Amino acid sequence: MDKILVSGCFLGQLVRYNGEIKPLSHQLMALWLKQNRFISICPEVAGGLSVPRSPAEINPETSRVINSEGVDVTEAFLFGAKSALDLCHKHMIKFALLKEYSPSCGSLKIYDGSFSNTKKLGQGLTSQLLSSHGIEIFSEETIDQLAEKLDR
Ligand code: SF4
Repeated sequence: MDKILVSGCFLGQLVRYNGEIKPLSHQLMALWLKQNRFISICPEVAGGLSVPRSPAEINPETSRVINSEGVDVTEAFLFGAKSALDLCHKHMIKFALLKEYSPSCGSLKIYDGSFSNTKKLGQGLTSQLLSSHGIEIFSEETIDQLAEKLDR
C-alpha cells in the first residue's frame, strides 16, 4: 500500500505560521488516515522555525526565502525540505499531498514575494526538492488525482 507524505497542517497539527489549526476536511483524508497511509511533516517546523512565526515568501529575484520582518530564513526552509526528502526515502514514498500556496509546500502556485497577497505560478522549496527526486506532488486542489494513482 502506497504511503503518502502529507503536510502536517492538513492533519490539524499546530504548525501553521499564524498558530491556527486548519485540517483539510475531505472524505479521502479520513479514508487514508484510517488506512494508515500518512507520514506527516511540516518542513518549516522541521527546519527549526517556531509556531507562530512571521509569514515568509520567496523573493523572485534572489530565490531566497524572506520573512515579513526582512529576515532571510532560506536555510531553515532548505533543512526542512531535506528532512521531507529523507522521510520519503525512509518510507519509500512516491506521492506527497502538500498545501498549496506555501513557500515550502506549494506545488503549483505560491505568493509572489511582495507580501501583497498576490499568487503566481511556482513551487515552494520542499515541493521543488521532492519533485526533482521524482516524487509526485498533489495538493488540496488535486487530491482526487492522487486517489487515482495509489496502489497501481
Ligand atoms: S510548511 Fe507546509 S506543513 Fe508546514 S504549515 Fe506550511 S503548508 Fe503546512
